Amino acid sequence: MLTDTHTHLYSDAFASDRPKMMQRAFDAGIKRFFIPAIDSGYTEAMYALEKEYPDRVFLMMGLHPTSVKENFKEELAHVEEQFKKRNFYAVGEIGIDLYWDTSTLEFQKQAFKWQIQLAKKYKLPIVIHCRDAFDEIFEVLETEKSDDLFGIFHCFTGTFEQAEKAISYNMKLGIGGVVTFKNGKIDKFLNEIPLKHIVLETDSPYLAPAPFRGKRNESSYLAFVCKKLSEIYGVSEEEIAQITTQNSKAVFKI
Ligand SMILES: [Zn+2]
Repeated sequence: MLTDTHTHLYSDAFASDRPKMMQRAFDAGIKRFFIPAIDSGYTEAMYALEKEYPDRVFLMMGLHPTSVKENFKEELAHVEEQFKKRNFYAVGEIGIDLYWDTSTLEFQKQAFKWQIQLAKKYKLPIVIHCRDAFDEIFEVLETEKSDDLFGIFHCFTGTFEQAEKAISYNMKLGIGGVVTFKNGKIDKFLNEIPLKHIVLETDSPYLAPAPFRGKRNESSYLAFVCKKLSEIYGVSEEEIAQITTQNSKAVFKI
């Protein structure tokens, strides 16, 4: 059994064939799907997805850093409102993205901190999105670190030193399609990071693994990530699936 710890199954990219896409994932052994939020524009689509696959799909709630704009306080109020109404499995995805927009850095930092505090309040993990922003993310984690701060560094693409640093803040590393890329770099050192710190993800519809690089990604392709990790660690795919699913249970408490 494989667990996709980060997949945007509610995306419009799947509007025309979602049931078939889901069936391909089930057939490939992917049984659990953790669904990160982006902003209020997607909340209804997430709830509809959950209604369709209640035993398979586990929702997070949060404000994605690329959706942090002038109105971010209204968006955070929406997030908080959802938490008051019902249960989620993580606060995510949250963090800092300086690839798309550097002008919102101060807002992004505020939103990130505020959502970390929300996660602590509800005793939930955080799921971090980090793009061109390792220093800024670590700066926030350093001020917020505590025993009740834990989660996943999603789509981890940093160096060995950054991996160790993320782990030191109680974060697991979310490993996806990038590990199969020729210039993805993390495949070179990943076997020095114990498997207990690793979870698998697709981030579909983005970041499809080889041999589908550049195409629409989907959760069934998690099997290619698992296969690559089995080569990197020199253990069977069954063992990778079992350990990373176990790790996902430790984080999400389900
Ligand atoms: Zn994502």
